[in-house]
Parts: sequence; C-alpha cells; structure tokens
Amino acid sequence: MGGPSVLHGLEASIAEIGRSLYERALRANPSLFDARGLRGRLAARALSDERLRSALFHFIDTLPQLDSAAEVAGHFRAYLGNYELGGLWGRVLRLGSHPALAGAVRASVQRVAREFLVEPQPSAIRRVLRRLARLPASATFDAVGEAVLTEQEAERYLQRNVELLELLARESNEPPAISVKLSALTARFDPLDRSGSCRRAMARLNWFLTRAVELKATVTVDMEQHELKGLILDTFFEVLEAFPHAGWLPGIALQAYAPDAPAHVERVIQFARSRRRRIGVRLVKGAYWDTEVALAEQRNWPIPVFLDKAQTDQQYELLTARLFDHPDVIYPAIAGHNLRSLAHAIAAARMRGLGRDAWEVQMLLGMADPLCKAVASKGIQLRVYVPVGDLLAGIAYLIRRLMENTANNSILRQTYAERRQLVDLLAAPHPAPVEAEGRATGFRNIPLIDFSDPKSAAAFRHALDAVRSGLGRTLRMNVDGTTDRPAGHHVCTNPASRDETLGVVEMASLVHADRAVANAVGAFESWREVPAMRRAELCRRTADLMLERRERLAALEVLEVGKNWREADADVAEAVDYLRFYAQQMEALDGWRPTAGFPGERNDLRYEPRGVAAIIAPWNFPLAILTGMASAALVAGNPVILKPAEQAMLIAAELHALLLEAGVPAAVCQLLPGEGETVGRHLVEHPDVGLIAFTGSREVGLAILERAGRVVSGQRQVKRVVCEMGGKNAILVDADADLDEAVLHTLHSAFGFQGQKCSAASRVIALKSVHDRFASRLADALDCYPYGPPEDPQYIFGPVISEQARERIERYVELGKSEGKLIYRGRVPQSGHYVAPAIFTGILPRHRLAREEIFGPVLSILCAENFSQALDMALDSEFALTGGVFSRLPEHIDLARRRFRVGNLYINRRITGALVSAQPFGGIAMSGTGVQAGGPDYLKQFLWTRVVSENTLRHGFVPPSAG
Ligand code: NAD
Repeated sequence: MGGPSVLHGLEASIAEIGRSLYERALRANPSLFDARGLRGRLAARALSDERLRSALFHFIDTLPQLDSAAEVAGHFRAYLGNYELGGLWGRVLRLGSHPALAGAVRASVQRVAREFLVEPQPSAIRRVLRRLARLPASATFDAVGEAVLTEQEAERYLQRNVELLELLARESNEPPAISVKLSALTARFDPLDRSGSCRRAMARLNWFLTRAVELKATVTVDMEQHELKGLILDTFFEVLEAFPHAGWLPGIALQAYAPDAPAHVERVIQFARSRRRRIGVRLVKGAYWDTEVALAEQRNWPIPVFLDKAQTDQQYELLTARLFDHPDVIYPAIAGHNLRSLAHAIAAARMRGLGRDAWEVQMLLGMADPLCKAVASKGIQLRVYVPVGDLLAGIAYLIRRLMENTANNSILRQTYAERRQLVDLLAAPHPAPVEAEGRATGFRNIPLIDFSDPKSAAAFRHALDAVRSGLGRTLRMNVDGTTDRPAGHHVCTNPASRDETLGVVEMASLVHADRAVANAVGAFESWREVPAMRRAELCRRTADLMLERRERLAALEVLEVGKNWREADADVAEAVDYLRFYAQQMEALDGWRPTAGFPGERNDLRYEPRGVAAIIAPWNFPLAILTGMASAALVAGNPVILKPAEQAMLIAAELHALLLEAGVPAAVCQLLPGEGETVGRHLVEHPDVGLIAFTGSREVGLAILERAGRVVSGQRQVKRVVCEMGGKNAILVDADADLDEAVLHTLHSAFGFQGQKCSAASRVIALKSVHDRFASRLADALDCYPYGPPEDPQYIFGPVISEQARERIERYVELGKSEGKLIYRGRVPQSGHYVAPAIFTGILPRHRLAREEIFGPVLSILCAENFSQALDMALDSEFALTGGVFSRLPEHIDLARRRFRVGNLYINRRITGALVSAQPFGGIAMSGTGVQAGGPDYLKQFLWTRVVSENTLRHGFVPPSAG
C-alpha cells in the first residue's frame, strides 16, 4: 500500500465513511454526555471545571470502602462541600449526615456504574447480551477486580473467569469471548522473575484454557503497564505453545501509544506465521498513559509512551494497516471510539477487500452507544467490551473510564460535549515535530536499573558471577606511617549461606587509629586550600566511576549484606546521588559572601571546613550512607577516616578505592576497618577529631554524643556530631484507606530488606473498622513471597545480617507471643541467618514490641478507635524517624501533616526509599539531630562559618561598597 493516489483515495474514503458515521452517531448522546437529568448536569459541570471533576472522581473512588452514613457524609462534604452542586446532590449535601445522604449518593453512583459495569449475575449478563444482539453486536467479557495481592485473590480471579466462561457458554449462542489480565493470575508477576512468574500464571491458566479450548472460546490477554509488557508477551507465546489446538482464538491486546508497539506487532505476526495459526490482536491506544508518564518521571526513566496524542493516532493507523495486511494469520480487533481511527480502519479494510469476518471493531460498554449503532449499521462486525463486577471490585475500572472519557483530549468529549467540527474530528493525525528533549537543569536522581529489560537482568547476573569469582582475598591493614600488626581478622561471610567466606579483613588497632588521625591532621591544611570546585569535581569523578561499576558494586552488596537486586541497585544509585548532590551544594556555598553592607564597613561570611572527620557508618545501606557522610565531609574540605560497620567492610573498601582512584589524596581519605567499641570509640574520643558523622543505633549514637561532649586533654575544638539514629516507625491505616495500596505498601515498608531499614514500618495502627481485613490480607500477601538467597532474583526477601541479629529478633518474636497474638509466621530456609517474618496483633502502646526498635521482619498491628487516637498512639514513642498515613479524607491528611511530627512523613505511599534532594532524610526527637541528609542544610553541619568585618573608612573617605 502506498503512493500519493492510493493515499488520496484512502483519505477520500475516510472522509466519506466518517461523515456517514458522524451523522448517525450524533442523533443521540451517549449517556455520559446526556445533559438531561441529574447525572448529565453534574457531568457537564465537571467537564467545565477541572477541580470539580477531580474532586468528584476522588469521592467516587472512596465510596465503596465507606461503611457508615456518617463516613459517606463526611467524605461527600470534604470533597464536594465547596461546590454549588444544585439538584439532588446539592439538596443531599444540605442534609448533613442524615442516613438518607449515604443512600442517595450510593444509589446515584451505582446507577452511573451500571452503565459501564455489569453485575456478576446471570440475569444481568443475559440482559446485556440481549441488548447487544439487537444492535447487532457480540461481546467480550472482562471480570474486573481489585488488585491481586494474594494467591487466594488470584485463585478467586480465575474462579470468576471460569464461572463467567461457563455462564456465557450457557447463555449465549456464540462461543464465549473473555479478556484476562495475566498480572491478576499470581500475586507475584514480576519481570525480574520471568520464568517463575510465567510458570505461576500458566499453572493457573491451564485449567481455564482447557475449558476455553473445549468451548472454542476467544481469550484475549490484556496489555498492562510498560514494565510488564515483555513478560506478558512471553507468557502469551508460552500459552500458544501449550495450547496449539485449533478452534479457539487466542488474542493479545497491543497499545499504539507505545513507541515500541510496531516491534510487538511484528513479533506477533511472525509467531502466528511460524506456527501457522490465527491470533487475534486487539489494537488499543492504551489506558495507562497518565500512570506511565508519572512513573517514568518519578523514576527518571525514558517515558515509554508518546507524549503527543497525534503520534499515537498516527501509529494506530499504521498498525491497523499492518495487521490488515495479514488476514490469514491475524484477526484484528480495532478497539476505540475515535471517529477518525474507526473511519480509517473501515476504509483500509475496504481497500484490501477484507470481508466482514476478517476483522471487527470493539467498543466499551456504555461509552458511545450511538457510535456503536452507527458502526453496526454499516455492516461491520462489532463487539462490545463488557466489564463484569460489583462496585467495590470495579471502582478502579470505573474511575479510569470516567477520567479517560472526560479528559480534555478525549475524543468522546470532543465529539459529544464540545461538538467539534467534523473536519477537525476527521483530520489526519499530524504529530508536531519532535523537539530536542530539554531536560530540566539542576539536580536529578540517577535512574534505577529497569530490570524488566532482559539485558539489564543479564548484566546483573554476569556481575554477580564476576564478583563471586574474585572473592576470597585478604584486605591488608594499610595506614601510612605504621607497620603495626592488625588487631585481628574479620571474616566476611554471606548471610544467606553461613559457610561462604567472601573475604578476610585485617582489623585496625588503636595504634592504626592514632596514626590515621595524625595523617589526617597533616593533610588538613592542604586539603582545605584545594578549591571547592576541584573537591566537587573529585566527588563527581567518583560518582562516574561508581556508575561505571554499578552492577558489580550492587552485586557485592547482594552477597555481603543480603540485599535483593533492586534494593542493592538503589543503594548504589543513592550513593551516586549523594556525591553529585553535595558537590553541587558545596559549589553554591563556596567563597566569601557579603552580609549586611554599611557605608565604610565591609562584612563578609564564609563557610570553612571544621577539621578531621570520623565517618562511622552502619551496614544496612552499606554504600549509600558511608558515601553520603564521607562525601559531605570531603567536599566541604575535611579529611576523613572511614570507619565502616564490621558487617559491610568489603563494600567500604570498594568506596575507599574509588575515591582514591578519582584522585582524592590518600591521607585525606583513609580506611580504618575496626571494631566500633574500640576503634570507633577511640576516634570519637580522640582530641584531634573535630567532626563525627555517625549513623547507627540509638544506643551507640547517644553514647557518641555524650563522649564527644567530654573535653579531653589536648583537644583544640568543640566537636560537632552529626548523628542519625533508629526508629520505631508507624503507619496509620484509616477507615477509608485504599486497602489495595495500604497492604501493598505496608508489605514493602515493613518487610523490604527484612525490616532492616531505619525507615521500615514496625508498627501499623489500623482503625477498628479495617483492622481485621487489613491484617489478614497483609498476612496472606506476605505469604506469597518465599524467602531465599537474594542473588536468585525470584527472592525479594532474604536473610538478616548475622546470627547475632537472628537470635535477637527471635527473642522479640518470643516476647511478642506473650504480649500479643502471632497471626502470621512465614517459613524460611535453614542455610543462612533467616528469620521467618512475623505479624502480631493485639499489641498495646505500652508493650515492648510497640516501643523498641527490632530491626527485623517483625510487625506489630495496633488497633485504634478513631484517627485522632491512632495519631496519639503513633506519636507515643521516643523515636520520630519516619511515619506513614493511608487515608482519603482530606482533613485527616491535613491533621497528619500538622501533628504527625516525624522526620519523614509519607502519605498514601510506602515509607521507605527516600530520594536524595526530593526527600531529604533523617529523624527528629531521639531519632536524629534533625537535619536531613540529602537536603539543603545537611552540608552546613560539616562546616563552620567565619565572619570578617573590615572598617574601610579612611579619614572621612568612604570607598564605594563592593556589592
Ligand atoms: P550500630 O549502632 O551497631 O553501628 C553503627 C556503627 O557504629 C558501626 O560502624 C559500628 O562499628 C559503630 N560503633 C559501634 N559501637 C561504637 C562505639 N561505642 N563508638 C563508636 N562507634 C561505634 O548500628 P548498625 O547495626 O550498624 O545499624 C543499624 C542501626 O542504624 C539501626 O538502629 C538503624 O535504625 C540505624 N540507622 C539509622 C539510619 C538513619 O538515617 N537514621 C540509617 C541507617 C541505619
């Protein structure tokens, strides 16, 4: 196909088909845009007021979760109280919290929902089939549901599909057609665990597909978010191999908004051709646009969808044509409500002489009934996509549909609400020329590795092998100026496998510590004279080297501290971020800066380094925290002595080597592997150490603060301690919380890295009405994850750091049994320092389990009567590091913002994983000295200020002021 005359003919045909569709389709309005009646009026208002539209959908989103009339009333007022709604909803609003309000509002939303969502009852399905038959149209069904977080939920999803299949077989004369979501077939559908995810999904599908084959059904696999796309396609092809039977039609949905869609279309065509079998392709534009853009922006990944809608529309037409060119192996379903795209498809099919059975148009139930009629009247095969589900399960679907069809660029909105001119609606898509990407200047976080790309996963596996093959070396004690014997040897082992030795480290003695301090003192004078720009450059160079070796560094973390792939990569990325962020900050602080100027007097201030810095780090973010503290000190002009945690010395040695390789002088950055109680303490008390940057437990942190405050003989300056300590972090789960989200994010916040993050959730305070459901769903969700060695990417949860830690955590589990009720205990392998995750309920605020930092996979769930009590319980702690709230009531969110005083509060998201610059991190109260790392004020702690005031008056002569 091609050539100007063919194209011209095609355009003429599109115009003609489009016009006739338009004339028919505009005889009536789809119900959503029908201005008559209450719903129509509200929808019309919402279309013209973006804020009302958002408030309305937010309100609808919470509705299924609300139990009492008072709750419905509260939310209704909170979201919509500021709008003059008029009509029934306006009157309802004036009723206050009268029970009638809840009923009226619920009934009204139910009515809207029923237009788009069919009840899972045989009678309702029969009704819809009859209605569609009159068009005439057939149907494809989709059992919509809540997010699948547990295997039981996945099983129920499948069960619903099987029931639907049987129901359709009974009720319809045609073979059943069903759409399935692969991610709903297992709680763990993770591209990093490709084969496991595929296996789990296939195991569930088997039963369903065996029946689908018997019934000669059409089963279409829905396409989902970008990250899952490769895995979905792989699983789809596995399905085809496993069910080669003729008679049933397997189908896959492909999204035209993705620049990589043509490659996927080709893959499907080639597969169909090579296996000589027909495959259905539902071509859609794509329903996750906003989420894809937002997630990519958040993660700093390339945006996986076209930003220009015209590009999507244009690609849609190209792909339509491509699919039409293979009628022997592809059965295209052109899905959408766009007049131009539909007219194009009909014209393109005609041009190729495709018969009625060669392809079909698909539209969503309730979205564009008049357009459905118009298409059916043209003798085109029409299939309506019918979601089946109750309101609670279907709300996410409903909101997505409502948002999509009322958005500014919605074609339905343009056609029906705005009555755009026909020529505009039928114009060929013309993408704007692509502008060179103007990335924002300023600080940007390093994007994490996208492990959904098989190449990234392969590179990481390779790095793990390479690191393992280089293990087993002895790290020599090497402090310039002394040959003193090491104080001992530390054997580094893999926490996932007790017997695996990773290396041996010679430990520093106090003689080494003294010598290191003397070296640093000697280096201070010259280091502080190095221009800040140069010091910043060295930090950036280190960051570059780190990035070059990011997989190897992360792989070493996997082996040395038991992080999983993603967490290990995030730790390396954070280290890079710190180096670059503090470099940038120091450049901004450098030099003399005038304060208030007076005629005849010059006042200037400058930041200067404080002196020798001891960097005492924990093991749990082995690269990021050590790098963060060290780079802040170094870039500020202080020589550093790195005193890493005993459990993470190999990684610390890598950092040390990188800093030296980048060009930091050896005496300015010395590595002193040693025990905290001896070498660490000695550094803290040393008269020549002026600055201590510590991150670790409260016990050690407080001892350091105290010791650093005691002046010793020969000391020449007051010591500064930058001190970040532990937490006992709480997540509040409100009565109206989105439980899908609350369960998922709590799971990762509490059990990610086995609960060994200072930011980890160790208390959940759930309101009574959701407490039981939350607790049992969380336990079931956690149960989906087996524990094992994190070097195998199927395991996202692994061992705790040491045998000592394991024993300590187990003692807390025993204590928990006497304080509360153990509702869940997982299973773990025996080979390493594993602790089976535990969840307790019935814990009271006074219990030790609710008060002490456990630092392991143990979660206590407390129960509160109301939100304010929950907040009091959360605050009843000596710690104040992180906190979280899951709520959809604006006044509760406001209250939490004001009163939930912790260093980092997270609302409706996980409470771990702070990003440098965007989320400066650190505790207040007894969790830290209150200036967050990665934030605007952190670096200043490593500096002091000096002020110079100069009288410039000379015998009545006032020189012009400098600035
Ligand atoms: P830890 O306090 O046992 O050890 C931290 C560091 O202090 C290690 O390098 C250790 O050798 C050293 N040390 C121990 N005793 C010392 C002493 N008497 N004098 C000087 N140094 C001494 O902590 P950890 O087990 O490595 O890390 C876990 C703890 O760190 C948890 O409490 C966690 O909450 C906290 N943490 C806090 C943050 C934060 O940003 N607030 C971040 C990570 C970890």
